[in-house]
Amino acid sequence: MTVSFWQAEGRQAHREADVVIVGAGLAGCSAAWFLRETGLRVVIVDKADVAQGASGRNAGFMISGLDTYYHRAIEKYGAEVTREVWKLSHETLAFWRQIATDSNGRVPIEQSGSFLLAESEQEMQELRLAHQAMSADGIHVIYHDQDPWKRGYYAALEQPTDGAVQPVALVEELLRQSGADFMGNSEVYQIDSRGSEVVVHTRLAIFHAQRALLCTNAYSLLLDPYFEGKVIPTRAQCLVTEPLPAPLFRGCGYSDYGYYYYRMTFDNRLLLGGARHLHRAEEHNTTEDRLNPNVQGKLDDYLRRHFADVAHVPIARRWSGIMGFSLDGLPLVGELPHKPNVYFAVGFTGHGLALAAGVSQRAVDLMLHNKPAGAVDVSRLKQLIL
Ligand SMILES: Cc1cc2nc3c(=O)[nH]c(=O)nc-3n(C[C@H](O)[C@H](O)[C@H](O)COP(=O)(O)OP(=O)(O)OC[C@H]3O[C@@H](n4cnc5c(N)ncnc54)[C@H](O)[C@@H]3O)c2cc1C
Repeated sequence: MTVSFWQAEGRQAHREADVVIVGAGLAGCSAAWFLRETGLRVVIVDKADVAQGASGRNAGFMISGLDTYYHRAIEKYGAEVTREVWKLSHETLAFWRQIATDSNGRVPIEQSGSFLLAESEQEMQELRLAHQAMSADGIHVIYHDQDPWKRGYYAALEQPTDGAVQPVALVEELLRQSGADFMGNSEVYQIDSRGSEVVVHTRLAIFHAQRALLCTNAYSLLLDPYFEGKVIPTRAQCLVTEPLPAPLFRGCGYSDYGYYYYRMTFDNRLLLGGARHLHRAEEHNTTEDRLNPNVQGKLDDYLRRHFADVAHVPIARRWSGIMGFSLDGLPLVGELPHKPNVYFAVGFTGHGLALAAGVSQRAVDLMLHNKPAGAVDVSRLKQLIL
């Protein structure tokens, strides 16, 4: 984003902090949580409010791993990186469960499992291969050679430790438990790094801090050109029905290689998202939050195809959200090369609930202790970019 000469007149108050986190989503609020016992003064600023970005618009799937099947991840990233990222994901899901447990019921959550569902014989074969590779690495998954939900799929791979959560409640709880200060409606439009000081210019205040951490995911490029080509904003569309008399199934469904995903909400609505792959040109490279009737129409088709029994139930709400897809599909943690002491944890590639806590913890460890971020360290991109 930019700010005009007139708008940037400098009427804001000046404030001091040790760490300024930009972005109050899953990543930013997790990072604040991991900073909570350091004694540092932490402020989170957001251009809108808590969980107004993708973190409050997602399907609430706590689905482990990446946006690709396990054996395909091994082919793409290698076995070591794949194992590391899946472990990070399992740690993240366990972390959310702990946050929910400590919330005194404020965070609705369930460990109902996820089901990767084959839409074709070819995908069924992929699920078999994923099952073999995961089992070989000691990950507990169950292969069903028939559709467990009897909704027209060829087979399913069940991940029993996955689950579902109310994502807005989760982010609010993270912020609450972190004890960090929060300033909403305060877009960051400029960050300067001067020696040991970082100056974060926001609409409402100018912060003088030791460090800043960008948790701006899809919007990162609007803040710094460094993210050009590294984090690609990608829109996703969802819908939710009015409540049904009873749940249709238990667990999170994930079909057509994850391009469609659905679950029952805690009040028995059917929530469905996906279909962006059918309208790539419209849904990729945009930060515009708007409904795309073409994609929403494909979601309606999907409902009729797999849920004809409830396709007559009125749709209560449709919405969109912007995800940050990284260049190679793995999250990115690092320090801006041209702005010392400005760090980032971005690029969750549609899997922030799978990975945000673990990745933010690594960003905090890099920022405070100079500890490399492993598989999610941005340095790996040098091979792809140069
Ligand atoms: C429709 C949809 C369905 C999804 N379903 C799932 C799912 O089921 N499971 C899963 O694991 N993942 C899912 N995802 C992805 C997941 O939501 C994201 O990966 C995750 O929310 C990213 O968290 P974040 O904190 O990095 O980003 P965000 O939640 O987008 O937070 C970024 C924040 O930064 C703020 N910000 C940006 N720029 C500035 C600035 N200049 N100044 C101040 N503030 C700024 C924004 O306002 C925003 O609050 C889905 C995403 C969408 C859109």
